[in-house]
Amino acid sequence: MTTADVVIIGGGVIGGSIAYHLLARNPRLRVVLLEKEAEVGTGATSKATGGVRHQFSTEANIRLTQLSYPYFAETERILGRSVDFVPHGYLFVTTEPRTFEQLQRNVTLQQRLGVTSRVVSPGEMRPMLSQLVVDDLLGGSFCPDDGSADPHGLLQGFLARARERGLRVLTSEPVVSVTRDEERVVGVETLRDRYRAPVVVNAAGPHGDEVGALAGIAIPSKPYRRQVMVTDPLPDFPDVFPLIVDLDTGWYVHRQGKSAVLMGGTDKDQHPGHDTTVDWEAFELVFKAAGKRVPPLAEAKVMRAYAGVRDLTPDYHGILCEVDEAPGFYLACGFSGHGFMHSPAIGLLMAELIVDGRATSMDITALSLARFKAGAVSTESNVF
Ligand SMILES: Cc1cc2nc3c(=O)[nH]c(=O)nc-3n(C[C@H](O)[C@H](O)[C@H](O)COP(=O)(O)OP(=O)(O)OC[C@H]3O[C@@H](n4cnc5c(N)ncnc54)[C@H](O)[C@@H]3O)c2cc1C
Repeated sequence: MTTADVVIIGGGVIGGSIAYHLLARNPRLRVVLLEKEAEVGTGATSKATGGVRHQFSTEANIRLTQLSYPYFAETERILGRSVDFVPHGYLFVTTEPRTFEQLQRNVTLQQRLGVTSRVVSPGEMRPMLSQLVVDDLLGGSFCPDDGSADPHGLLQGFLARARERGLRVLTSEPVVSVTRDEERVVGVETLRDRYRAPVVVNAAGPHGDEVGALAGIAIPSKPYRRQVMVTDPLPDFPDVFPLIVDLDTGWYVHRQGKSAVLMGGTDKDQHPGHDTTVDWEAFELVFKAAGKRVPPLAEAKVMRAYAGVRDLTPDYHGILCEVDEAPGFYLACGFSGHGFMHSPAIGLLMAELIVDGRATSMDITALSLARFKAGAVSTESNVF
């Protein structure tokens, strides 16, 4: 039997951030992180393409990015290493009047919260990427501060700093049961050991619903496959251009390194399950959407492709709370494709929740598990 103050289930970027922030608040805490695989960071975090954006439709998602942003823009100061953040901007485009109206509402909200996003006309988009077909577009939204960074680097940064403060990381240690003493959650069991702790955090990513079930808690987060492809070098494209999302199809493209591009999308919510086999036929939709929006990309050769799993909730917001019916059991899962960019904020808020008894850096009501029962959900519309 091992005793600890906090057990974290899951060694992805969310679990790593929670460990870092807990120990930054109180280095005397005994924090144990349990990872089922032989190494940390092999789950969704290893597949994330590194996007960081402010352009969401809800206050909660925008504020999560704002709280997280310094960890990308000033990583050296905070974590002592670089995460190769490039603020190349995100450009959302559409031909649909209703989608364009929604984008305009989003920008109004974003600007009210201090985001530098703006509505852009097709003419303003042309210089952003000369190969972009804009004639049929109604307009879009652009934020120059959006960008991308290295998920693996961020996870390693969190873990390195947390280990210096005493974090214990155990790999090949799958949690197989969650121990309850009447209502309270008081620990977990793995195949090798029993862990007793007054705080157990479910940071199991796309397996969050399964870990919830071990404690008898239903979590409305489901795993969905998302696949991406990286092309052969495309020297005719500029070194840096915005990540472009065509909201009509869900297709997106961005620079991968200095020469290739990465494309994906068009597969939201289509393949529930943990299968990460690449579905090559599904890339036909990607090429079709690419051919319409950036025609030279329809001729690009695929250098490699891979699939990962995103944990999606019905309203595309993560779940961050202590469970009312299971005191001591904390949830940090269901991040709906934004978990990398929101991981710094999630760690910070979870540490506040555990150490202070409530989150103070922002209102997290919109992220509670109880919201689903109350029916008070505000669905994120800027998803692809
Ligand atoms: C193709 C793709 C592109 C993406 N792009 C972006 C992006 O651009 N920007 C962005 O913000 N997000 C993106 N995401 C989403 C992002 O990857 C996730 O939201 C984020 O990595 C979630 O981190 P996590 O720590 O919750 O999950 P994970 O990284 O999956 O970590 C959870 C860990 O828990 C472990 N685990 C599970 N069950 C158990 C158990 N019973 N016992 C012990 N350990 C267990 C798993 O092995 C895993 O290591 C993308 C996802 C995919 C698939």
